[in-house]
Amino acid sequence: MAGSTLCNNNHNNKLEGKVAIVTGGASGIGEATVRLFADNGVRMIVIADIQDQLGQEVANSIGLHQCNYIHCDVSDEDQVKALVESTVRDHGQLDIMFSNAGIICSSDQTVLDLDLSAFDRLFAVNVRGMAACVKHAARAMVEGGVRGSIVCTGSVAASRGGKRRTDYHMSKHAVVGLVRSASVQLGSHGIRVNCVSPYGVATPGTCKLYDMGTEDVEKLYEQHMSLRGDVFSARHVADAVLFLACSESELITGHDLVVDGGYLLNN
Ligand code: NAD
Repeated sequence: MAGSTLCNNNHNNKLEGKVAIVTGGASGIGEATVRLFADNGVRMIVIADIQDQLGQEVANSIGLHQCNYIHCDVSDEDQVKALVESTVRDHGQLDIMFSNAGIICSSDQTVLDLDLSAFDRLFAVNVRGMAACVKHAARAMVEGGVRGSIVCTGSVAASRGGKRRTDYHMSKHAVVGLVRSASVQLGSHGIRVNCVSPYGVATPGTCKLYDMGTEDVEKLYEQHMSLRGDVFSARHVADAVLFLACSESELITGHDLVVDGGYLLNN
């Protein structure tokens, strides 16, 4: 094997020597994860997003020796393939794929008035895009003999039904199905596939969804969690992603790691 997920467990050095891709890394949970990966000694992190200015600004703020931005619309398989190929060509291998890009602002419809055009647009990113990222990352890892780690962003919406936003709930159930199947299929190659499923954290995406500022969104979510004492933030989700990306979780695959401050049991 040319590479391995085994990484240094020294504090702040958990990803030493690793090459990672983060989709949706220009904003919110993706951005927080990019910054945490950089703090943990990742050799190179590639941000893949469609918000070019924001993505480039995040990369510049980390330093171009450690972070690149590439425009990639995950709903276009050719762009995902090119993203993975250029990462391997320029940086030698791919160890970690955090497939996180997703649309939160879904329609408010019930199944009775489901707009299937909006449904298709959401599924193109949240499901098709997620599958393309897992497919091409896994191919690169298999070809490179890398025992990599793939992490997808699910949601607590994957564990329950919703009164509204039917398409979003369905899309996140599909992500967990993808993770479980891929983990079974890729285990023989030493590749782990897991999922983080956050409850609500204030991000540009959720602030837009509710048309509220950060503090109001935090208060909105906080009232439904059983855990008190800290503001639930994108950084808490990034901590879970880091755990699944590095060797601290080396025997964990096919797992849906819920990061919800007790929300699911409390509701
Ligand atoms: P966000 O809107 O702040 O960030 C999402 C990023 O994905 C943006 O930078 C956006 O440009 C990018 N993106 C969207 N479509 C894309 C595409 N086609 N190709 C490439 N990039 C694209 O949202 P967030 O809250 O950080 O959400 C990130 C992920 O977390 C999503 O998958 C979302 O469903 C999931 N999630 C979020 C929460 C939450 O409360 N914030 C809860 C559960 C799950």
